[in-house]
Amino acid sequence: MAGARVKRAIIVGGSMSGLLSGLLLRRAGWAVDIYERVDSELSGRGAGIVAQYELIERLRGLGLATDELGVHITTRKILDVLGRLTHEFECPQVLTAWERVYRLLRDAFPPACYHRGRGAAKFTQNADAVQAHFSDGEIIEADLLVGADGIRSTIRRQCLPEVTPRYAGYCASNFSAIRSPGLTTIFVPVTAVTMWFGTGPPTKQRNCNGCSLTSAV
Ligand SMILES: Cc1cc2nc3c(=O)[nH]c(=O)nc-3n(C[C@H](O)[C@H](O)[C@H](O)COP(=O)(O)OP(=O)(O)OC[C@H]3O[C@@H](n4cnc5c(N)ncnc54)[C@H](O)[C@@H]3O)c2cc1C
Repeated sequence: MAGARVKRAIIVGGSMSGLLSGLLLRRAGWAVDIYERVDSELSGRGAGIVAQYELIERLRGLGLATDELGVHITTRKILDVLGRLTHEFECPQVLTAWERVYRLLRDAFPPACYHRGRGAAKFTQNADAVQAHFSDGEIIEADLLVGADGIRSTIRRQCLPEVTPRYAGYCASNFSAIRSPGLTTIFVPVTAVTMWFGTGPPTKQRNCNGCSLTSAV
């Protein structure tokens, strides 16, 4: 409608969810500002991740190129506790890195609307608007506030104080190592993810034509 006021959204949290929500809202015609508590760029944060079909579809829907997103694999293999192959099945997936997805989203979002070092402390709302209260005392008003502030979300805590993260008993560490005797640099096609379920650190081993790329998650 001509002359209609552009609606304004505030997003608390500038990681994956914040950036994706921001880009989708912008595409729908909203004016969006993202407020991220961390002052520095959120780089080097993540690990190797699987880019699920839904994510790839969303990225394409936003007009972002996904051809170079990662490595296409075809197969998944499951080993038992003794390392014996118990299952092998077709499982086409794209293996990528947290950093790569983040960078794609970050580069697509206008830098002037992405505010670093801005932590939200709480929100208030009335019939017309919502107000984000920041730790530095500033209050910013908008039509919509999106809480994309992660597992220990300040926004969720205010809405649903009874919901708290519960430790599930897992411990995760992440590394990748390539074993390739006699080679210092390799670039080989990866075709399968092999998962081993046993005691000790769970491990993903990726077949690399004779080389072994191991990533423990
Ligand atoms: C080892 C590992 C492997 C994974 N593998 C996969 C995978 O294969 N596929 C997959 O889809 N996902 C995977 N994930 C999960 C994926 O990385 C996370 O789901 C994703 O990063 C969550 O994004 P998010 O934006 O919701 O939250 P987060 O990344 O936690 O970001 C929340 C952001 O909000 C900011 N923030 C917090 N509080 C405030 C506040 N009060 N004010 C302002 N900002 C605030 C934080 O600084 C942070 O930047 C994996 C995760 C890990 C650790």
